[in-house]
Amino acid sequence: KFDDLLATVPTGLWIDGGAREANSGSRFDVVNPATGEVLTSVADAGVDDAQAALGSAAAVQKSWAATPPRERSIILRRAWELVVERTDDFALLMTIEMGKTLAESRGEVAYGAEFLRWFAEEAVRVGGRTATAPSGNGRILVTKEPVGPCLAITPWNFPLAMGTRKIGPALAAGCTMIVKPAEDTPLTMLLLAQVFADAGLPAGALSVLPTLQAPTVVAALMKDSRLRKVSFTGSTGVGKKLIEQSADQVLRTSMELGGNAPFIVFDDADIDAAVDGAMAAKMRNGGEACTAANRLLVHNPVREEFTKALTARIAATKVGPGYEEGVALGPLINAKQRNSVAALVDEAITAGARVHTGGSKVDGDGFFFEPTVIDEVPSGSRILTEEIFGPVAVITGFDTEEEAIERANSTEYGLAAYFYSRSLDRALRVSAALESGMVGVNRGVISDPAAPFGGVKQSGLGSEGGSEGIDEYLNTKYIALTP
Ligand code: ADP
Repeated sequence: KFDDLLATVPTGLWIDGGAREANSGSRFDVVNPATGEVLTSVADAGVDDAQAALGSAAAVQKSWAATPPRERSIILRRAWELVVERTDDFALLMTIEMGKTLAESRGEVAYGAEFLRWFAEEAVRVGGRTATAPSGNGRILVTKEPVGPCLAITPWNFPLAMGTRKIGPALAAGCTMIVKPAEDTPLTMLLLAQVFADAGLPAGALSVLPTLQAPTVVAALMKDSRLRKVSFTGSTGVGKKLIEQSADQVLRTSMELGGNAPFIVFDDADIDAAVDGAMAAKMRNGGEACTAANRLLVHNPVREEFTKALTARIAATKVGPGYEEGVALGPLINAKQRNSVAALVDEAITAGARVHTGGSKVDGDGFFFEPTVIDEVPSGSRILTEEIFGPVAVITGFDTEEEAIERANSTEYGLAAYFYSRSLDRALRVSAALESGMVGVNRGVISDPAAPFGGVKQSGLGSEGGSEGIDEYLNTKYIALTP
């Protein structure tokens, strides 16, 4: 029943401005996680295909870099318009290949497309600076140049936005880009490649390489001296490997890695607002977000009230295929991910955690897991330290602000953190004390294309979005002038 839509999506490798089969001729299936059924298949890139993509990226790098910023901007702007025009197609495509609800997919289309508009605007604002040398006998001229051909490796949880957040600034800066989408969700990026071609992007400036052989294909590209940068969003483990591999050619790197976001509710918070925020921070995207609230830390005086209200909301969440009316929670991405969520929850329950609602897989087709609230999790349980990536809220209590901050920071991650309080003093103090790249104060959603997204500690390197985002794709050149 999705055939009309699927017929408009390229399923080959997108290389040199068009879709083609892999040299090996092999393809792999794309599955609907709500049913386990095969939707279609896509070409499976090998090392030789990747080298062809890099060849065409390298071949147009110079002319793309020399294209007037205004022209690059107009192409990005046109791509934004085309994605927005095709909101229904992109939304349904993401829902069927990834599982999130249609409402959330529409939200992602707006969010993901916005990176193209934002960076269309940034493309014409790349500056530099000039100064007089302190000695007085020279001038310092600082210019910005595109870093060159880039590789983006993206995850499956935001199939459009994780691509546009990298493609937008790269193209704006004058870089060419190869995208290696996640194997579970290659279709959205392939449709985007088609849209960019329709928007007038020169062949070779953007390639999309679905593959089941990510480790070998990526390693081969990263050893190739024509590549100059890698930008990755995914798990910390894979990110560390890529940082190691980037040493070979001393590549620029941007890393958006895992998170273990604390969500703190102080006793001076607006509890209704905090419950709304927790629903968003925990349940948005089915909990499959690196910014998802992983640990709900609640001040003991308000813990019971908060737990009761949140449990009522989570228990009322309708589970089903994301394309069905009224559904608020879709399936997890695949069986492996569901098993990993189930294992974390089972271990916690066996160790003595209390279940307020949910707690198990949903029987039947598709990879569904019940929306879940647990508390009284014994310390030492893996669910308190590992990224859950599922619709499971874990609540623990605390007595003092110091304790909350100490616990919030006791993780190797540092991506997002959230807290609720009505006190301005506390808001400023706690924002400063939290060891994370992003802090949400009295809100459960923080992502904004106009703001720098990124983590500290083992959550990553660099920022995406905002005026900072384009810097990741620019090198600084210093020219010494004698007057
Ligand atoms: P997740 O656990 O959320 O799937 P991963 O970090 O495994 O996150 O995957 C994110 C992206 O990294 C995907 O596109 C995946 O194909 C890719 N990937 C996984 N392993 C490697 C690797 N060894 N080298 C390069 N890319 C990889």
